[in-house]
Amino acid sequence: MHRKLFIPGPTEVREDVRKAMDFPMFGHRMPETSKLMEETVSKLQKVLFTDKFIIIGTCSGTGLMEAAVRNCVKKGALHSVCGAFGKRWAEISKSCNKDFEVLEYEWGKGISPEDIEEKLKTGKFDTVFVTHNETSTGVLNPIKEVAEVVSKYPDVILCVDAVSSMAGVEIRVDDWGIDYVVASAQKCFALPPGLAVASVSEKAMQRSTEAEDKGYYFDFLQYKKYWDKAKQPSITAALNLIVALNYQLEKIVNQEGIENRFKRHTEMASIVQNWARENFSLFADENNLSPTVTCINNTKGISIKGLNEELSKRGAYISNGYGNLKEKTFRIAHMGDLTVEEINWLLGEIEDIIG
Ligand SMILES: *Cc1c(COP(=O)(O)O)cnc(C)c1O
Repeated sequence: MHRKLFIPGPTEVREDVRKAMDFPMFGHRMPETSKLMEETVSKLQKVLFTDKFIIIGTCSGTGLMEAAVRNCVKKGALHSVCGAFGKRWAEISKSCNKDFEVLEYEWGKGISPEDIEEKLKTGKFDTVFVTHNETSTGVLNPIKEVAEVVSKYPDVILCVDAVSSMAGVEIRVDDWGIDYVVASAQKCFALPPGLAVASVSEKAMQRSTEAEDKGYYFDFLQYKKYWDKAKQPSITAALNLIVALNYQLEKIVNQEGIENRFKRHTEMASIVQNWARENFSLFADENNLSPTVTCINNTKGISIKGLNEELSKRGAYISNGYGNLKEKTFRIAHMGDLTVEEINWLLGEIEDIIG
């Protein structure tokens, strides 16, 4: 039985999107690819309110997170960590042998722009890493305010993990001054996994020319070289997925409209938040609630595993808590193409099961 995914990735993929990937193959050096890439990039720029360079990478989001570390960090990386995915980015810096420091916050809390400013004053850092939407805790961080702080330091690059927020939450790359922002296909874009996208500022591109030991596959300059030459990917990209991305972006940008898409996510989020306040309690700080995923304290001590088994019989699936939060919390994702009706249906089913 098909279980509708209310998990924070992969998200539910519509049938028409799946069918969009069923076509006779063409080559990555053929004109079809240039046209496809140009169309896709120009729509991605609309989603991000930018005219900056866009990378479409054949890898998951973590790949382009690693790319940020390899291309941008020379002197030192400052990682803000308030959950599992912020921690992952710091681990990437460690594994790439970069000098780095971690600003750590209690899980459930958001990060503080003032703390970042304090750290930047030391002059030890040339790159700041922030998780926009911490999927493990349901926290949305104030990246606009962080960008304001970072913009006072012209030599510092701001990298944002928007894996679980891009295309669901507003991100104004140019207005806010974000150098690098990355997302995966299988979250708010509601595509199958396998692609990641990122926007790259000129400052970040310049830094890449100075970066040492950055490897080959994730080199910004490789992506740029092939784009400049023929608007093509540097390697044999996952063309079927890029076709699906282009198809989905047409829906997002030109049919639903990006502002409406943000609004739908906010609506779904407030329904789940209100329901959670009434029936359980919210794990994340009230000032940092995520519009795409809600982490709920299991105050009733129900078996989350058991709940999911029952939900599975009814055609739905939610997420248990992340890591140590397993069974102590559970998460309902309201991202991608899910609707208010589907969210209301899910909550009704959960109430029916837990009685
Ligand atoms: C899912 C997720 C990731 C990891 O993305 P992959 O595509 O699985 O590599 C990173 N950061 C956040 C915030 C996420 O939600």
